[in-house]
Amino acid sequence: MNLDDTIVATCSPPGNGSRGIVRVSGWRAIEIGDGLFRGTSGERLVETATNRRLGGVVRLGRFEVPAAVYLFRRPRSYTREDVIEFHLLGAPVLLGWLVESCLAAGARRAEPGEFTARAYLAGAFDWSQVHAIAGLIAARSDNQLRAAERLLHGALGDTARAARAELDELVSLVEAALDFAEEPIDFIAPDELRQRLAGVQRRLEAAVAAGLRADRWTELPRVVLTGRPNVGKSSLFNRLIAAERAIASPWPGTTRDVLSATVDLPGLECLLFDVAGEAEPRTELESLAQQSARRAAEQADLVLEVRDVADYAVCPAVAATTPRLVVLNKADLLSGEAVVRLAGQVREMEGVPVVAVSALDGSGCEELRAELARRLNARDAAVQEGAVALMAEHCTALEQAISALKAAMTVAGESGGPLSSAELVAAELRAAARALGMLVGEQQTEEMLSRIFSRFCIGK
Ligand code: GDP
Repeated sequence: MNLDDTIVATCSPPGNGSRGIVRVSGWRAIEIGDGLFRGTSGERLVETATNRRLGGVVRLGRFEVPAAVYLFRRPRSYTREDVIEFHLLGAPVLLGWLVESCLAAGARRAEPGEFTARAYLAGAFDWSQVHAIAGLIAARSDNQLRAAERLLHGALGDTARAARAELDELVSLVEAALDFAEEPIDFIAPDELRQRLAGVQRRLEAAVAAGLRADRWTELPRVVLTGRPNVGKSSLFNRLIAAERAIASPWPGTTRDVLSATVDLPGLECLLFDVAGEAEPRTELESLAQQSARRAAEQADLVLEVRDVADYAVCPAVAATTPRLVVLNKADLLSGEAVVRLAGQVREMEGVPVVAVSALDGSGCEELRAELARRLNARDAAVQEGAVALMAEHCTALEQAISALKAAMTVAGESGGPLSSAELVAAELRAAARALGMLVGEQQTEEMLSRIFSRFCIGK
């Protein structure tokens, strides 16, 4: 990554939109922007000293397209470099054209995450905040977004810095004891040392326990529809994804492949799967279809067990460990009262949540969506309060620090007096402090940098 280059990328989402954004960053950004933009009252970017928005047109070949330009002079910009943002109609061809014009004027295409990488290298935020931005981009639910925001606001960095400061002090006390071994001074008593180390350990363990594993966020929660043939799984699948994807038919055994689609629920998205119904397989093909259905159910975060109201007590054989929700389908065939009674019976008999719906007329489907969202959100609800997003690297660093602390306490505990193992204690404490240093970005390597930034998309 060459920081001397001026970089350019479209940073609005792909496809048509009401507004598209092209961002240019680097020492030539203003000059490049100035060559393409003309302000409504003739303002020039190169002559504009303060950060502001200018209305006008960008020249793209022979055309002039209405656009606004946001000018951010360094260091008061996201990357801390000079930044120009063109805001114009979100038409992919126009945006592509504008990017090409910037390239022709001497900019280079930005690599994935390069804007954020530059901001980080310029000291705009610390290492855990870089991860937080990756988390904000990856977040698929409101809980995840809040957890990433907490990371962005430095929650993990603060914990790590406080623990580091405490360890640094303890290391110097232990080392002082070594340096002045001949003197009758007691720098720190083993009991006090152990107590303070236990305090640090508790705080780090709490940080792990309260963390949401953000590196797994790109995976959507998986919800699988199971049940006997003809109970209406495919009809419900289509109803929930609001499209005719699965073939619903009165003939059992129509669904053979595992179908999947993304479903937008209140506050989060999930991946919904329609699979073959559970029945005695009659052919080799059906038997294969059932195997993949079972696999899908085993890997699910939630199983929707669909039953026909006429056959409500049949309990399909799904993986017992997967949380499940019973859906009584074809509610339109019975009276409202009868449906309520049946749902109550199943709930009481099996102790599972039950929702009655009709895939045919859509009744109950909004309740089902709300219940799905509630159950999937509840998966991380236990750690929701004050949760901070954690990437795999954070967990590793915290675990390394915790195990070094434990080793230090064991060694300190074995010593007869305060000094006999001071050197070993100090070494473990330094190892713990080093691991924490990773969290505040003291020791990231070139490889760590490229790994994190490659998770970003271009334009971020
Ligand atoms: P699958 O085999 O479980 O996927 O079931 P399908 O979705 O293919 O549906 C089987 C049959 O039940 C079809 O004839 C559907 O039209 C019918 N069906 C599905 N849902 C409902 C419903 O809510 N009410 C009624 N009355 N019929 C339904």
